[in-house]
Amino acid sequence: MSRSEISPDQLIDREIGPVTILFGHENGKYPDGNAVLVSGAHETIIIDPCLGVVARKDRLPRVDRVFHSHAHEDHLSGSHLFPDVPWYVHGEDLAGLQSLDGMMAMYGVEGPGVGEFKKMVTTQFNYLPREDAHTFVDGDLYDLGGVTIEVLHTPGHTGGHCSFLIDWGATEGRFVFLSDIELTGFGPYYGDACSSLVSFEKSIERLKHIDARWWLTFHHKGLFEPREHFLLKLEQYGGVIKSRERRLLEFLAEPRSMDEIVAHRFVYRPGVVDGNMVDNTERRSMARHLERLLQSGTVIAMDDSRYRIV
Ligand SMILES: [Zn+2]
Repeated sequence: MSRSEISPDQLIDREIGPVTILFGHENGKYPDGNAVLVSGAHETIIIDPCLGVVARKDRLPRVDRVFHSHAHEDHLSGSHLFPDVPWYVHGEDLAGLQSLDGMMAMYGVEGPGVGEFKKMVTTQFNYLPREDAHTFVDGDLYDLGGVTIEVLHTPGHTGGHCSFLIDWGATEGRFVFLSDIELTGFGPYYGDACSSLVSFEKSIERLKHIDARWWLTFHHKGLFEPREHFLLKLEQYGGVIKSRERRLLEFLAEPRSMDEIVAHRFVYRPGVVDGNMVDNTERRSMARHLERLLQSGTVIAMDDSRYRIV
């Protein structure tokens, strides 16, 4: 049975005020995810329609607009169900909604793997390009009637990654959809061509100052409440960045080349071998740490292209 054929009876819906969480298979484990429907008096918006939404296609309400937290394949695999309504994404991820080539460029995928990746995005994730997709920016506020959605630009995972603050006025009525700020033990992912470590740190810092009771990740972890519990998880999650950097500094007590850094594994566990994808993620992620350590003068580049602490 493919993911798009998951029985809708296996999937859990949960209503919190005007928000309905459409939990995906295994709590939104990739390739699925947890989507959100927000229903106001005037309109209904779906955020990140994914494979679990496809499984529910016979019992979905009328949807007026589709919001995307960013243009990764798992966040838009149900968007094709809504071809006649406007789609939205942040401008920095717009290219990924407009064309497959745009999405490949965001990932930084090139070479022989491109054809296979494009085929997977098309067949398993129902990719439908939308050249006429709309954009939103940080702070944009959508009034659905009795409930608002505010766009929070929280870049890092991708350049245009956004979270959404859903507010229906009651004390308990504030809900944040965190998307791929996942709060997992793996830690923040900033290994794509369009990712940024520095932006990810700023986004984590910003979320600490937002007041809401409910916090939902797109994958795995799902729903967190109250805010104190979320803040604890966010602290641990952000701490993974510091831990990667600390371990890199320890490793650079001896001069090391970039290939040695990649082979050592800082993002994935030592010994994880999964071809180019893992190597590329390690290389991009740790190059971002190295860049700022070089800038601050903590690490120097030696004549033989190796690096060490000062
Ligand atoms: Zn993503």
